[in-house]
Amino acid sequence: MSIARILEIAFRTGRVTRKYPHEPPLLTPEFRGAVRVDPSKCWGCGACVKICPPNALSLRSDSGREVVLEYFVGRCIFCGMCAEVCPARAIEVTKEFELSSTSLESLKYGVAHRLVRCSSCGSLVWTEAELRAVIRSSPVAEEYVVLCPRCRKTRFARAASIRVGAGSE
Ligand code: SF4
Ligand code: SF4
Repeated sequence: MSIARILEIAFRTGRVTRKYPHEPPLLTPEFRGAVRVDPSKCWGCGACVKICPPNALSLRSDSGREVVLEYFVGRCIFCGMCAEVCPARAIEVTKEFELSSTSLESLKYGVAHRLVRCSSCGSLVWTEAELRAVIRSSPVAEEYVVLCPRCRKTRFARAASIRVGAGSE
């Protein structure tokens, strides 16, 4: 909060402190509290996990069939970097700061994503939401998008050699 704002409040009220929690706290527009992940927008890409300095965000896969993006507010330092890097704009930085709890589990929040396997070799490629987003925005044909990078390369090479062969006849 700026000095000018503090002085303004002090002159108006005769004090600069608030009787929180008996009256609402002063939160500046820049104030950052807990983050919220919108499950309908998240792809499960993991970009937020990579950027998060204290590992408050993690990607967990127990079954091999789904992956869970987990947010543990107990570790969060409220830097907002996850929201900046999220390609799906799925993270909102809220002004929530009353976060204490007696239960550790209530400080965790998860978004589950089904995993998709390569249609050729069966290795894990995408989350279902990520695949849908790539199909929507990619100029590459869907039959290639559902392949892992290695199988895609092989299929491209095979298609190209058939085309070259046909052209030289
Ligand atoms: S889409 Fe956004 S919130 Fe979801 S995993 Fe990627 S970066 Fe994180
Ligand atoms: S606000 Fe910062 S610390 Fe909290 S989850 Fe996002 S990147 Fe991690």
